[in-house]
Amino acid sequence: MPRPAPSSVTSRAVAPARGEPVAPRTAPSDGRPAAAPGRPPDCARCRRAVRVPTTDRDRLDDPEAVAGLVVPLLGAADREHCVAVMLDTKHRVLEAITVSVGSLDHTFMSPREILRDALLANAAAVVVAHNHPSGDPEPSRDDERVTRRIVEAGRVVGVEVLDHLVVGGGTWVSLARRGLV
Ligand SMILES: [Zn+2]
Repeated sequence: MPRPAPSSVTSRAVAPARGEPVAPRTAPSDGRPAAAPGRPPDCARCRRAVRVPTTDRDRLDDPEAVAGLVVPLLGAADREHCVAVMLDTKHRVLEAITVSVGSLDHTFMSPREILRDALLANAAAVVVAHNHPSGDPEPSRDDERVTRRIVEAGRVVGVEVLDHLVVGGGTWVSLARRGLV
């Protein structure tokens, strides 16, 4: 687990309950370099929780809007990246976090990691996305299975999982549109 900077620990400690206004984060507050827009974050050392600061406060209410945010982040990655877009109660973007990066022995897209980051971000809802470096965005059986587990786990802890997008070859598939979310 990455060690948050003291400032972010403080802001989490005083974070208001869900539903109250959340003070905007002055990202990046943790001193780490921000990822360049349109480029997946470099997480060779750290497998997860590379924060992608976003000033985008639009509502992400449909898959097209989500794709507009995550396709530039994931499109050029040569390994599988799982990104979770954290949203407030009005489905506006709080931040996007690279939760995990695929490797040979990966436990990719673990509901535990996604929901841990969502709770730490004080998110009311989350959209999950990952890429297929092969270029084929067709979700695998595993993708469908893990999506159901993430949705179910989100229900238990009170984080609404709105969608799961699979990105590949410059296009994407929405698992919500397929009725799996
Ligand atoms: Zn997949």
